[in-house]
Amino acid sequence: DGKKLYSPKVTKEIVEKYSFKFSKSLGQNFLVDGNVIRKICDGANITKEDEVLEIGPGIGTLTQILAERAKKVVSVEIDKKLLPILDETLSGYENVEIVHGDVLEINLNTLIREKFKNKRIKVVANLPYYITTPIIMTLLEQKLPIDKIVVMIQKEVALRMQANPGSKDYGSLSIAVQYYSEPKIITNVSKNVFIPKPKVDSTVIMLDILDKPRVEVKDEKLMFNIVKAAFAKRRKTLTNALNSSPLGLSKKDIKEALASCDVDPKVRGENLTIEEYAQIANVIALKF
Ligand code: SAM
Repeated sequence: DGKKLYSPKVTKEIVEKYSFKFSKSLGQNFLVDGNVIRKICDGANITKEDEVLEIGPGIGTLTQILAERAKKVVSVEIDKKLLPILDETLSGYENVEIVHGDVLEINLNTLIREKFKNKRIKVVANLPYYITTPIIMTLLEQKLPIDKIVVMIQKEVALRMQANPGSKDYGSLSIAVQYYSEPKIITNVSKNVFIPKPKVDSTVIMLDILDKPRVEVKDEKLMFNIVKAAFAKRRKTLTNALNSSPLGLSKKDIKEALASCDVDPKVRGENLTIEEYAQIANVIALKF
């Protein structure tokens, strides 16, 4: 009937009709702006070929437009109180399926196999901000058949994901995200396009998943432990940070490893590229 859920009036009517109470602890801030939704869908380049996994449909605002553009949408929602609402708001859309559950508990491998027959998918969401990093890391680390992730997240987190060496936002999240994907900020979003209005600024970011990780690493876990150690002591030199970490490396070992990678032992972790971290991890994996 052309009734769009992103109209603030329509959203308010639905919320009132069901006496829905927004849950702060579930990160419930519903989008009420057609332009932002269009930017999200354009950013993800959603076409009738696409099968989409959405996380947290809310009352179905983004889901509705995804359903109109994509071939199929499967959307995971934790809040039982939203299920009858979604039943009504998405009743006309045959290509949408709502799955009740916690995205961090669900076996995503199984879900993707069952719902999408292991076809490559896109993940599109206005994420619950309190679990942004665990959700993104779950999606990236499990090596699922995902081509692109396009999500609205807190602006500061988006800046950290996209940051380069030397910037104040550069850290272990930048390295983890860039190991698996090419991040690109699509647009910044005002607080005023949500009901209720959140305290933080938002950004839509696209993570283009790489065919294979950006660098070759013999022991991923070791590399991420080195990264963690380097950023745990931001003000220290890399040598001192690694030496005082639980990795159990002596100063001599570290100096030798860094020398063989042509890395200055006095450098700080915040100035090293992901390629340099990989190189250091590979030398340490071989030597010790
Ligand atoms: N997509 C809707 C929109 O754009 O208006 C709602 C977005 S709202 C920011 C986040 C949604 O994620 C809420 O519907 C919330 O109930 C849901 N959610 C929170 N934690 C979740 C979890 N662990 N698993 C699945 N959904 C969750």
